Amino acid sequence: MLRPVCRSSPGGLPLKTMLPFKLVYTDDYFLPLGAHVFPAQKYRLIHQHLLQSGIAEASDFLTPEPAPDEDILLVHTPEYVRKLKTGTLSQLEEMQMEVPYSPELVRAFWLAAGGSILAARHALKDGVAVNIGGGFHHAHPDHGEGFCVIHDVAVAIKRLHKDGLVKRAMTVDCDVHDGNGTAAIFPPKTRTGQPLPSASGVQHNLRGAAQLRDSSSGELEVFTISLHQANNYPSFKPPSSIDVNLPDGTNDEQYLGWLDQAMSSALRQFEPELLCYIAGADPYEEDQLGGLALSIAGLKKRDELVLRVARSRNIPVMITFAGGYARHTEDTVTIHCNTILAAREIIETCKSN
Ligand SMILES: [Zn+2]
Repeated sequence: MLRPVCRSSPGGLPLKTMLPFKLVYTDDYFLPLGAHVFPAQKYRLIHQHLLQSGIAEASDFLTPEPAPDEDILLVHTPEYVRKLKTGTLSQLEEMQMEVPYSPELVRAFWLAAGGSILAARHALKDGVAVNIGGGFHHAHPDHGEGFCVIHDVAVAIKRLHKDGLVKRAMTVDCDVHDGNGTAAIFPPKTRTGQPLPSASGVQHNLRGAAQLRDSSSGELEVFTISLHQANNYPSFKPPSSIDVNLPDGTNDEQYLGWLDQAMSSALRQFEPELLCYIAGADPYEEDQLGGLALSIAGLKKRDELVLRVARSRNIPVMITFAGGYARHTEDTVTIHCNTILAAREIIETCKSN
């Protein structure tokens, strides 16, 4: 297990090194789901593991506040927000969410959105920041689905845009499931372009960034990448700027090749001021809701690739954790903690070069 390393401060004094970026976390990220395939305790387990293993120390963590309603409303409709706050979702709407409604659940999602806003701000300052939560990429403006109630990443992008901090954002969604909520919120403008090299069973869409008019500070452009298993939820996959529809059983080498090509293609046509990395743990070969075949080591290489490409271009990265349903929850925890290790290794390597 890696231990925190020591460096010298600019004045030559020994500096007990914290992580070179912040982790956003609260125990209240816990989702009150009862018996459910979503391991709601994973957030607490990740926090615990980071501290016990010495990967992080208490001062590395920031505690989020729930996002203000006005920020949630930058993405979600007033009607949907009202239903969530008053407990008046229809049975059908609650079924579509696939998580049981409770006021505590709503608060946890408001906190996740507040956490992603906080992490995005710190990413701009430190180069990287991690929300140990969030990544609820199936949430739509007017409804929740697939365990996702509020689209925290979209809320963070819209809030930072409103504050005049970001006009161009990119989402890199590596959860095994298609980022349908992200694509619905930031629909790409259709454009022509050279398709990525093709392989049997893999399809690509190539479209420009979503361009959204916002009255406060000009135009927001969001470029969305989704690498996902083609044969998986959701059945309807609205187009992202780049979609990579992976066949069942895609392995480490194949996945990393597609990710590399998707990011290279994206960054040839779009220069983001913020990259939102949705680092789902569910492309893992032992995942109960996924059908890809990535190993734990392969998933860490995936994280390193995203972070290395971003760091080499000085693009700040905000990380969220999204899904992860490994047969053994400790594997999900390991995969998420490895994302933090990968970020530290890439940042420290970049600093020493
Ligand atoms: Zn997922």
